[in-house]
Amino acid sequence: MPLLVRHPAPYPTESLLGYVLRVSEDNGYSSPWSVYRLAGLKSREMKAAGVRLEKLARVTNWPSEKLDAIAYSAPPGQPRSSRLLGLPVLPQELNLTHPRFCPRCVREKGFLEAHWDLALMVACPVHRCLLISSCPQCGHRLRWFRHGLLECECGGDLSDCELSSVSEAEASLLNMIQKQALAYPPNASNPMGLPQDQLMAMGMRSMLLAIRTIAKHRILADGTGDSKKDQDIVSAASRVLVEWPANFIALLEDIGRQLPADTSGGVGKQFGGIYRGLFRNKGMGDSKHTEFLRVAFLDFAMNHWGRGYVDHKIIQKLGELAQNDFSRRQSLPPR
Ligand SMILES: [Zn+2]
Ligand SMILES: [Zn+2]
Repeated sequence: MPLLVRHPAPYPTESLLGYVLRVSEDNGYSSPWSVYRLAGLKSREMKAAGVRLEKLARVTNWPSEKLDAIAYSAPPGQPRSSRLLGLPVLPQELNLTHPRFCPRCVREKGFLEAHWDLALMVACPVHRCLLISSCPQCGHRLRWFRHGLLECECGGDLSDCELSSVSEAEASLLNMIQKQALAYPPNASNPMGLPQDQLMAMGMRSMLLAIRTIAKHRILADGTGDSKKDQDIVSAASRVLVEWPANFIALLEDIGRQLPADTSGGVGKQFGGIYRGLFRNKGMGDSKHTEFLRVAFLDFAMNHWGRGYVDHKIIQKLGELAQNDFSRRQSLPPR
């Protein structure tokens, strides 16, 4: 089998699709098609999530384990998941068909980092650049089958950075998602007051679910925005998560204001939608990692709401310390 002339090593935080594009560009090809063809991959075998790594490994001259570390295929025993740098994520969290990225990040690093493969990465938290998703020259949407990391198939230059209007809150949320994806530690400083340690402890998949659930209910309560648009999701979630838990409590108050005036009964039932989404969804993972959400919910129920009663189940799920604290302050609800 003919080998490539250059065999750049994949970076540990590199996007797999970005890596193949970089290999292609390094070898002077006009598109990654050539690399896939050399590897003997048929077009039906090029589905990003299931690409035959051993074939790709042979032409790039790197062991397939090295490529597997940045692959998207399902982790062992979790056939319905995908992976990003080894972290399980739901397939719908990945955006592998419509590439977009921050031109300045790519210029500085010299490769495409894997967090750009996440659907929620709608802006660059570092440079505040507008992500590039179409070619400024031909106007076409970017494709993986282009000339280079920063060159469209029409020859258009993709390295310009236009500043975008991403808020402090959005940038801090995106920064946290990026850190989680690349397995970097959380920021030492946290000026926006996100519950970043707690969210990151949930793990990638549950953290993204929490962000989406919180965003959905902020958008519902606002009555504006589109809970299917990644941009709107990031914007809404960031407004709730900054200065934790004040804005989460404000969201619950807004939801409460829209409930019928005669609402009573358990608060879990009254706030059914968001309550079920955060506390009854298996996808949220280990209940000790969602304790910070439960504590904030209880804080709201006991100190801000005052209608109905707090369900036993919520308190039972709390860790011992928080449980004692709440039981002391709480007049017990009817059994
Ligand atoms: Zn950037
Ligand atoms: Zn173009």
